Amino acid sequence: MPIDATRPYDSDNIFARILRGEIPATRVYEDDWAIAFEDINPQAEIHTLVVPKGEYVSWDDFSAKASDAEIAGFVRAVGTVAREKGLVEPGYRLLANVGAHGGQEVPHLHVHIFGGQPLGRMIA
Ligand code: AMP
Repeated sequence: MPIDATRPYDSDNIFARILRGEIPATRVYEDDWAIAFEDINPQAEIHTLVVPKGEYVSWDDFSAKASDAEIAGFVRAVGTVAREKGLVEPGYRLLANVGAHGGQEVPHLHVHIFGGQPLGRMIA
């Protein structure tokens, strides 16, 4: 069920619980700003989620309210994860769903990294 991205942050959302280590995830990366873990329902050969450690509902919330350091740290983390997965040469796709029309289901900002295969057109 897509969320309303304008609602306040809910600290019980599933990615907040993964960040706190309360529920398991296949973590592949962590630094001061972000963690990355494998999507539980992969839509491509490689489907990894990168999540900032700060409490932001969506890309909108993050881009408006996060500090420059948080934004730089998160963007670099996304790039590092893709690089470490060997995705730069074959190529990959980033996706951040926002709100109802974006189909966002988890109300904590996350960037999807898709790769490992040709991904076709932007929107099926
Ligand atoms: P979005 O629609 O952009 O909010 O995407 C949410 C993504 O989170 C989906 O691709 C789900 O498969 C994924 N997801 C939901 N719960 C978990 C979980 N516990 N561990 C890993 N990925 C999850």
